[in-house]
This record gives sequence, structure tokens and C-alpha cells, in this order.
Amino acid sequence: MARETTYNFAAGPSALPTEVLQQAASEMLDYKGSGMSVMEMSHRSAIYQEIFNETKADLKRIMRVPDTHEILFLQGGASTQFSMVPLNLLGEGDSADYAVTGNFAKIACKEAGKYGKINVAADTSESNHSRIPAQGELKLSPEAKYFYYCANNTIYGTEWHYVPETGSVPLVADMSSDILTQELDVGKFGIIFAGAQKNMAPAGLTVVVIDKSLAGHEKPYTPLMLTYKTMIDKDSMYNTPPCYNIYILGLVLKWIDKMGGIAAMDAMKREKSGMIYDYLDNSRLFKAHAAPEARSFMNVTFRTGDADKDAAFCKAAAAAGFVNVKGHRLVGGMRASVYNAVPMAAAKALVEFMKDYEVKNHV
Ligand SMILES: *Cc1c(COP(=O)(O)O)cnc(C)c1O
Repeated sequence: MARETTYNFAAGPSALPTEVLQQAASEMLDYKGSGMSVMEMSHRSAIYQEIFNETKADLKRIMRVPDTHEILFLQGGASTQFSMVPLNLLGEGDSADYAVTGNFAKIACKEAGKYGKINVAADTSESNHSRIPAQGELKLSPEAKYFYYCANNTIYGTEWHYVPETGSVPLVADMSSDILTQELDVGKFGIIFAGAQKNMAPAGLTVVVIDKSLAGHEKPYTPLMLTYKTMIDKDSMYNTPPCYNIYILGLVLKWIDKMGGIAAMDAMKREKSGMIYDYLDNSRLFKAHAAPEARSFMNVTFRTGDADKDAAFCKAAAAAGFVNVKGHRLVGGMRASVYNAVPMAAAKALVEFMKDYEVKNHV
């Protein structure tokens, strides 16, 4: 298989822009006449510090992060944030609200239970997480230290199309699979975090955007490496940060600028996922998993309703160059992830392939 004829719909790690990989390749052995790869330099060297500062400044500008908030480049994946959030935000006797709308939110909720009292503000498991709760359904506790939700449920293919209103209770959002896809009022959030491997960079980098006033209240036994204050004070360089991944994020941000910024990403995601959903709604072979008003712009989940037919479709799709379309075992069926780096042409080609497949195989 060749890159030119491979349509990669992986859910994560997932596609990166070809131009970004080409630039990284051209700079691999000798970054800007330094005689070294970015992988080989000291994270405290002037040349690396420049990459770091520029990437952080670009992310701040593109996400419109206010000065009240700090951007952190951490490790441990989004999953480490499941522990870091309660360890830093919950004091003795404190509680938090969690909306359980999918697997990652469920894991985060369970993990937080080790460190404080957790109220389940909503739980959509009765629908196999095919929907998102409405604002009025959220059981909010006024005394909660924070309200936690997963903005895009990667596995189930649902997305919150509104920012929950929680009054003075800070919002904590897992945006691993929909960061950099829409304009956000970042000031409304206490913490936004995301594993980089869906929409930003290779796996190994976790981006955290945190309201600085939330840091410094960690439990006394919180590991140093899991303390937001440590990382804020040291500008993410208490220890060695994931240097190369930060460099790739920098290239991805330049690519986003070139494509027209967040507004262009937002428009593209609607067009790409929209054409697949439109087809699914008219198909007699496939059916979308998510309720129409809860559908994710990033992860399109669908199935035939028959596991053997699903498997046959995945096999045929892979043979035709459409790879990584098998759904997560919790939902079954198929999932086409159309993150920022997945070209419009890939979504178009997938729809054409599915139409053709339906005509040939549906009796
Ligand atoms: C992928 C994903 C995670 C897990 O990320 P890791 O970096 O593997 O820990 C958590 N939440 C969401 C929404 C995800 O998509």
C-alpha cells in the first residue's frame, strides 16, 4: 500500500497532515542547520526553547487562551488527567459532578471516586451512549468543586454540541478527540485537556489548559509529577517534556493557520462528517449509531446490524484502501474518524465506496 492510495480513518493515533510529516522528514537529520535532529537536542537549549515557546504561543493564539490560563505540555496521556484532576482539585470532604456519556468519562468518574465524593450528574449508558444529555437533565450540585464531561465520545461517536452551564462551578473537559475543531470561550473552562494523538501530534504529549487559580490546592500526597503547580511554575519543564511531539504540534498548528485556522477546521469537519451521515441516513444497509442531535463531527459510528456483514465490509474497505474503519468493541460495527488531518477527498471517497458496496452487496 502507498500513502497516496490509503485513506486512514484511525480513531487514534490517527492521521497527521502529509505536509507536516514531509517537513518533519526534511528536518529529521539536521534541524535548521543545527546539525542535529530535534530528537537529539537538550530541552533546555536555546534552539529547542524557541520551538517550545513558538508552539505554546501559536496554541495560545489559535485557541484564544486568556492570560488567566496556562498551557501545559505533559505526558501520561489523557488517562493520567483522570487522576490528576481530582488529586489537584478535590480537598478533604470535597465532591465533584461527572457526566458519564461514554467509556472514557466512566473511567475518569471511577478514578475520581478514589479521591473524593462523586455525583453522577448524568449517565447515558441506558442508550449505549448514543445520546448526550440536555442541559435540563444534568443533576448539578452547587457545592461541587468542578463539573466534568468528555466533550467528544470517541468510541461511541457522540459529541456535546453545547457547553454545559454550571454557574460558578468550574468546567473540566476531556477534549482529546475534538480539540482544535471549534471556536471556544476558553475562559469559561477550569481545565481543558487532550491527549495529542487524535488531532494534534503523535501519542506521548498531553495538552492541558488550566485556569491558574485552580492550581496549588492539591492533596498533600499528590505525586510531584502530577501536581499542576509544579508544571506551571516550571513551564512544563520540571523534567524532560515530550520534546519531539511538541515540535510536531508546532508544525500542525502552522498547518492549521495555513488552512484558514479553527474556523476552517470547523467548516471542514461539518462537511466531511455531514456527507457520511447524509449517506448513512439514506442507506438501506448501514445505520448510524448516534442520535442525530448528538452526532460527533469527528467519529462517525455506524453498523449494518449484523456482525458478519460488518466484518465483511471492513475487509472489503481495507482491501480498497480504507483502513482503520472497524468500530470499537464496545459499540461494534464501524467507525470512520475524520479528524482535522483527514482530507475532504478521503471522506468523499469513503461515501462513494460505501454507495457502491451497498449496491453490490445489499440484497
Ligand atoms: C483517546 C482518548 C482518551 C485516552 O487517551 P490516552 O492518551 O490514551 O490516555 C481519553 N479520552 C478521550 C476522549 C479519548 O479520545
